This record gives sequence, structure tokens and C-alpha cells, in this order.
Amino acid sequence: MASDYDVIVVGAGHNGLVCAAYLAQAGERVLVLEGHDVPGGCVATACIPGFPEVRMDIGGLEHGVFANSHAMRELRLADFGLRYLTRDHIYSFPFADGVAWSMHADRAKTVAGIAAISPRDAESFERFSQFSASVLDLLGAISDGPPPSLDDLAALTGAAGKSGGRLLHTFLSSPRQVVDRWFENDYIRAALLNYASHAQTPPWQLGSGYAPCLAVGGQGSGGKRPEGGGRSLILALVRCIEHHGGVVQCAAPARRILIRGRRAVGVELASGERLTTEHAVVSAIDARRVFTELVDADHQPAAFRLRMGRLTSGRDNIGEISMACVLREAPKFTSSDLGDGALLGSVWQSGFVEDVETTFMDIRRGVMPERPGAMWASPSALDPSLAPEGTHLFWLAAFVPYTFRDGRHWDQAKEEVADRLLETVGRVAPNVPGSLVARQVLSPLDWQRRTGNLNGNADHLDTGIDQMLGNRPSPDLSGYKTPIRGLYLSGAGTHPGGGITGDPGRNAAREYLRDRGLLPRPSGLQAGRRLARLGRLALAIHGVARGL
Ligand SMILES: Cc1cc2nc3c(=O)[nH]c(=O)nc-3n(C[C@H](O)[C@H](O)[C@H](O)COP(=O)(O)OP(=O)(O)OC[C@H]3O[C@@H](n4cnc5c(N)ncnc54)[C@H](O)[C@@H]3O)c2cc1C
Repeated sequence: MASDYDVIVVGAGHNGLVCAAYLAQAGERVLVLEGHDVPGGCVATACIPGFPEVRMDIGGLEHGVFANSHAMRELRLADFGLRYLTRDHIYSFPFADGVAWSMHADRAKTVAGIAAISPRDAESFERFSQFSASVLDLLGAISDGPPPSLDDLAALTGAAGKSGGRLLHTFLSSPRQVVDRWFENDYIRAALLNYASHAQTPPWQLGSGYAPCLAVGGQGSGGKRPEGGGRSLILALVRCIEHHGGVVQCAAPARRILIRGRRAVGVELASGERLTTEHAVVSAIDARRVFTELVDADHQPAAFRLRMGRLTSGRDNIGEISMACVLREAPKFTSSDLGDGALLGSVWQSGFVEDVETTFMDIRRGVMPERPGAMWASPSALDPSLAPEGTHLFWLAAFVPYTFRDGRHWDQAKEEVADRLLETVGRVAPNVPGSLVARQVLSPLDWQRRTGNLNGNADHLDTGIDQMLGNRPSPDLSGYKTPIRGLYLSGAGTHPGGGITGDPGRNAAREYLRDRGLLPRPSGLQAGRRLARLGRLALAIHGVARGL
């Protein structure tokens, strides 16, 4: 009997959709199953009470990486209605005492802002930006396809001699060590350290020393968000899939992945309905849930299942709360260091270095931080079409404990925590708390309920070096394939990880297409060239790494 589809993708987060779009574009009959009643996963929109016409971002907001991605071009998403709005102010870092600086697309402007705070750090920043740009090039090259094995990376850094050692030194350091090595001023170090936590990375996490370098990512190209909000990306992906004959089915959670003779042959929905597939099932959810919940135990060796059950998410108890609000007035900064343009970008607010560290220590202990950090923005400043006449939109996300030591439940705590976060914002933009008209809050528990993600973690799995690069989600599964034939892995829990990049979706799709003979496999020569390119990038870093 003919199968219902060629491939079934589980999970319509943007990675599942990107994956499905590549497969449909290549002519495969694709179905995407989504548990929630709308697609998008963490690229989520909220309804605001009293404003039925508003659909506002409450999850991923900044699309700088996706806007410049292979997927954007190769899937021709502009043809499906996706346009990006660009601004010069990427991020601003205001402090409660009125000092502030911004990361601009134009590096000279960033340096001038830092020089007003610390001339020595402005000099260091010039070299740090060059170094970071090279690190980003290297990460970009590594993100295009399965990660090189750790053996390959070791060979590469060995071949690059001293420069390879320096690069490795940065990667293996913690974000705190890296900001301390480059900078001396607390306003600069704290801002970069706070930014470096965006993948739920505590400041002391060894192996995440590259994270502060990501802050310079938008230099040159600017900050980017989709016109019409994040759902424009999701709508464009769904349109692309449908244009190529694929189907996206929502409110259809997968309950089991069906296996016959060590091969994935279909999916059973929570409703009991069974759908069959000719070639593959692609999971765009994390490997831990796939192998402990969706694949029956008798299809896996016990030791393998045990290992999958030990993949970690939330080991530092970090959860994320977010809110979408309607305001009467646009936020007004106290700091005269920030011009009007700052409101077009995002704000990363924190205390000093010790405060950032204490925040994550409190979170780990299950205590709501005294001085929480916050990322916030007013999306309608960049795209006025988003807000009803006479109002302004306000988006906020913050890291908080996933569980409280005193046993408090998030359903009771979330509005109080939201109030505390608005008060925090009030320290740098005092008119915000008083101009709140309506809000929608999602606690870490709400995120878990909505997406199924462990601890509500938008990265699906922790981002320590033990679960990154060739270890993501585990050394044997880092190539998007599993011991079960026709069962592939994608999503933020695979290389290169979380964020709105589309890379895990594209990479998994390409592995499948290669296995089907629909995409040429890289020759030994091409693989060698890729490694040589990585080596050249590592060498290029050497020139600017001397300042370390
Ligand atoms: C508050 C917040 C702010 C963020 N800000 C940014 C930002 O500004 N920029 C940025 O780059 N990144 C940001 N991120 C991170 C980014 O949004 C995520 O890392 C990324 O979107 C993850 O995409 P994904 O497709 O891999 O997984 P997800 O988005 O988690 O999607 C997984 C999907 O699978 C579905 N699913 C789960 N189980 C099943 C099942 N059994 N059957 C069917 N479907 C299932 C879920 O419902 C979900 O739709 C943010 C995240 C959050 C939460």
C-alpha cells in the first residue's frame, strides 16, 4: 500500500518548517505535524487582552542571522512575502545611573560611544571586533553542514599552530574570562557579559568563551526584524511549503514514531491516527524526548536510551519569561547618551559584572534575582504598522529560575515577577511601568506547555561544550542521523543550536536529500577544502588574536 507521505516532520518551529521547505522544494511529499494550534514554536505571537487586532511577538524577536542566511535565499522567501527591516542601532546597553552605549552597524559609532566611557576599552574594542568577526566567520563556516568532529577540530587548531591554540583558548574559556581579558571598564564588560548569556549561558560556563564575540554579529549589516513581526517568517515558510505541495497540520501532536525492522515508517498522533511515510521521519524536537518518549524502548539498546535520557536541559535552572505589552507612550530613556535611534533596536539591561554573576547564581539557587537583567524592545518603533493608533508595543524577555527553592509555582508567581521586571525597566525608562495598558505574560512553565521544550528551553538542550559542535546532541548523533534508519534529527537541539538561524533545519534536510541521492554528496576533495577553509579562517584569526 502506498505511504501517505515521503517524509513526516515532527514540530513546526521555524527549523522544522525550513527543513520541510527544502524537502518540498526538492519534490518530496512532505507533512509537518505541529502540536500547538499555530506553527512557529518559539517564533511565537501573543494575543493581548482587549486588543483583538494585535498579534505581537512574544518569543524570538531579532532575526539578524536568518535575514542573511542560506535559507532566506535558497528558499526564495522574499517571493513568499518575507521582508526585513534594518536599523543601525542593533543593541543598546543602558545602566541605572544614566550611563549607556550602543552597538551600531557602523563600528566607528560604536567605538565613539565606548570612548566616551573608556578610551582604553574603545581601543580594545577595535581589536575585539576584528577578532570576533573572524570567530563569527569560523562559526558560520562550521554551521554550514554537520559539525566537524572534535578530532578534526583538534587537527585544525594543531595545524594552525599558536593561533589555533589562542582560538582554542577563547573557545574553552568562560564568557567572564573573555570579557575580563579584553576589557577593563565595568559598563563595557557587564554589557557584553549580559549579552553573552542569551543562549541561557551563565557567565562562568567554560567552553562558551565565544559567546561575547557574538555581540558584534550585526556590524556592517545592521539589526533585522521581519516587516509585520516574526509571524511573517512563519507565514512565508508555510506558503513556501504549500507552494511546493507540502502540508502543515497544526493541533496534531505526535505521540509515537513508528518503527518497523529498525526503520522509521510513520507517526502516531495523540488522537490515535497513524500516518505512514515512504522514506523518513524528521524530528525537529530534542533527541531526549524523541528517544525517551516517542520511540518505544524495544527499538533501542537500553544503554543508548539511558544516554539519551541523560542529555541535559536547564542544568543551571535557567528559565525564560517573556511578555508582550501595549503601552500608551513609547519608552523614554533617562540616559542622554542614547539618541532616538536606540528605540529602533533592542535593549540589554543589566547591573555591573558582579550583578550579572549574582543574577545567574540566584537563578541556579532557585531565587528570583534582586536585580534581574532584561532584554526589551518597542517593536512598533521600527515597524509602526504593528501597533493600533495612539499605542506602542513593548516586548520583554528575561532569565529567571525555572523552579523556585521555596516551592512557589509559576502560575502563581508570574504576574508578580512581570511587575518586578517592569520596575527594573523603569530604572532606565521611567515612563514604561506607568504607561502599561495591557499585557500577556508567558512564564518558563507556559513556554514548556506551549512548545513541549524541556524546561521551556528555546535551545532544546543545554549549550555547554559537552553538548555543542560535534557533541550536539551527542557525538554519535551530531550528523543529524540516528541508529534508526530513516529517522533524522533537526531543531535547536542539533548543531549549530538555538536562535533564529534555520541552520539545523537546512542541514538536516540536506543530509536527507544526500541520502536519497537528490543532492550530491560532498566529495573527499570538497570535505578537504572545507577543512582547509576552516584552517585558513583559524589562521586569519591569529593576526588579531595577539591582543588577547
Ligand atoms: C522569549 C524568547 C526570546 C527569544 N529571542 C530570540 C531572538 O531575539 N533572536 C533569536 O535568534 N532567537 C531568539 N530566541 C530563540 C529562538 O526563538 C529559538 O531558539 C528557535 O526559534 C528554536 O526553533 P526550533 O524550530 O528549533 O524549535 P521550537 O521553536 O522550539 O519549535 C519546536 C516545535 O515543535 C513542536 N512540538 C513539540 N513536541 C511536538 C510533538 N510531539 N508533536 C508535534 N509538534 C511538537 C512545538 O510545539 C514547537 O512548535 C528566543 C526564544 C524565546 C523563548
